[in-house]
Amino acid sequence: MGHDLEGKGALVTASSQGIGRACALELARRGAGVVICARRQDVLDATREAIADETGRQIAAIKADLTSPADIDAVIERTVDEFGGIDVLVTNAGGPPSGAFMDFEDDAWEKAFVLNLMSVVRLNRATVPLMRKAGGGSIVNLTSISVKEPLKGLVLSNAVRAGVVGLSKSLANELGPDNIRVNVVCPGFTATDRMKELVGARAEREGKTNEEIAAGFYASVPLGSFAEPSDIAKMVAFLASDDAKYVTGVTVQVDGGFVKGLL
Ligand code: NAD
Repeated sequence: MGHDLEGKGALVTASSQGIGRACALELARRGAGVVICARRQDVLDATREAIADETGRQIAAIKADLTSPADIDAVIERTVDEFGGIDVLVTNAGGPPSGAFMDFEDDAWEKAFVLNLMSVVRLNRATVPLMRKAGGGSIVNLTSISVKEPLKGLVLSNAVRAGVVGLSKSLANELGPDNIRVNVVCPGFTATDRMKELVGARAEREGKTNEEIAAGFYASVPLGSFAEPSDIAKMVAFLASDDAKYVTGVTVQVDGGFVKGLL
């Protein structure tokens, strides 16, 4: 570990808080300069300052909505301005709303598609030529354990995120000869604002307390607790680093054992 990402320029999207923030912090702790982005300027600025203060690394922040192709272009451009290219790309985004299949009309499906699949397509597509030019790089696309075991009440996530796995595996095959590695990390239940929101929504739907719902989540996890965002970030940083130089095309969960299948 140590400063194994020294001299690298990283882009981590949707990174003002939660899992994205933890990834940006971990990459910076290991020596990378990082561009972060999200929609709220005030939260983003506070995060930028906190990570820069703690790590002393070059951290830049740019306000962006990942559903906007123009904003994605601006984020890429900013990263190139800061670091001359992109050595490490970590794609993250907000999650789609929770609900059952019959709750959603076309517009909700289209929004989830744009936020959780098209943003990944656009970010990866803009990054590949930069990595090719630099002789390689590492892409980590963040999804969810829902790609291995569909989650109750999260039909949009269950359906749309599976596309990120298909995309990432295809890219790993296609880009291996360019020394570009592409992997997927699937967070399990992780203690963030998003998790609080999901617990609250399910409690309301099922007429239970938040504590009862949280206890149900814990019971489904062999390690018996939520992940810390840093647990996810450490896997992302490993895959970003040369320690994982022979690892591409994997979809790895960090979930306390939640997924019960063999793969
Ligand atoms: P969070 O709500 O704590 O953070 C989400 C981040 O995404 C914030 O920085 C927010 O500003 C940003 N964001 C949201 N929509 C955006 C947009 N349109 N453009 C730019 N930035 C945007 O959530 P989290 O728990 O860190 O989750 C991050 C991702 O991981 C989500 O997609 C979530 O569904 C997924 N996930 C979370 C868990 C969990 O248990 N927390 C588990 C599996 C997957």
